[in-house]
Amino acid sequence: MSLIENIIRPDVRALSAYHVGASEGFLKLDAMENPYLLPEALRVELGHRLSEVALNRYPVPSYTALRVALCEKMGVPNGYDVMLGNGSDELISLLTVACARRDLATPATVMAPIPTFVMYSMFAQFSGMNFAGVLLKDDFSLDMPAMLEAIKQHQPAIVFLAYPNNPTGNLFAENDIVEILRTVGDTGIVVVDEAYQPFAQTSFMPRLPEFPNLVVMRTVSKLGLAGVRLGYMSASAELLEQFEKVRPPYNVNVLTQATVEFVLENLSVLDEQAAWLREERGKQAAALSSLAEVEVFPSDANFLLFRVNDAHQVFEKLIERKVLIRNVGKIHSLLNNCLRVNISTPEENHQFLDAFKACVAA
Ligand SMILES: *Cc1c(COP(=O)(O)O)cnc(C)c1O
Repeated sequence: MSLIENIIRPDVRALSAYHVGASEGFLKLDAMENPYLLPEALRVELGHRLSEVALNRYPVPSYTALRVALCEKMGVPNGYDVMLGNGSDELISLLTVACARRDLATPATVMAPIPTFVMYSMFAQFSGMNFAGVLLKDDFSLDMPAMLEAIKQHQPAIVFLAYPNNPTGNLFAENDIVEILRTVGDTGIVVVDEAYQPFAQTSFMPRLPEFPNLVVMRTVSKLGLAGVRLGYMSASAELLEQFEKVRPPYNVNVLTQATVEFVLENLSVLDEQAAWLREERGKQAAALSSLAEVEVFPSDANFLLFRVNDAHQVFEKLIERKVLIRNVGKIHSLLNNCLRVNISTPEENHQFLDAFKACVAA
């Protein structure tokens, strides 16, 4: 046996690494990034602010000022706090670490509707939890009879609901989520992942006091700060107290902390960018819908999911034209021939449309 076979878990050896393709020189519309930078004057001010940060010191692991600012600016209910993560990816990981009980006869279960954000099943596996995926309906709404049956069968410790969902872009019905919260009750937590909240403008955050098993997760990534890596989540004090125990004490670095504190003081700039993107989303959806043989699905996120006759061919032709989107048809048969494209600036959206039209015409 080789060193690798001796030490690495078989299920990890069998994985292929999370692949992010090279994108230099491409019109990059595959990662749901905000295309806008901060205005020049704010960037200069931020530069001064960052030059004052003590890089030689560890962060103060309570991150009090940042937590207070997030609670105040992001509509966290009175009496509720947030826990911080190095992106919400880390928070997803930490939740599975905290809930992967080893005192049970069979592993505890993470449940989610599928297709959805791939990190839920990945981190469930890494933590040794069981993953139960419940297929969405053809219109990407929750299949409630199937969800309720799966809850009964698996008694999931964690249910993840991306709201809006990625890669489908839609919001699940609020009543359905409430029914899931009530059905799960005190046998599990329901994590409403609101990564795309700036584009949906609806939230379960104000409803935290109604549901002791609700966790609301957010990130600043899709809002325009994907590079700084900061996620946060709110839940009851009892839950956060336990989750905090598995958080690496210095998981958020001082530059991220200072940057987000600064940006929160100027949040209207990012809110305005999100409003532009919502407006562009409507225009881009209308433009794509007007093309023959393109089916555009409703979106409350900063991307559009649409179906074409031959997604593989269109995707490859776009690559030849140096346009990078996501071919999500490969993820699940429900998404057969579906492509996902970011909403960007008016210029980039036009560039994409022109390239796309040329690809479907040829
Ligand atoms: C992008 C995304 C995230 C990841 O956010 P980070 O904070 O950048 O780690 C989480 N959930 C969903 C549904 C996403 O699409």
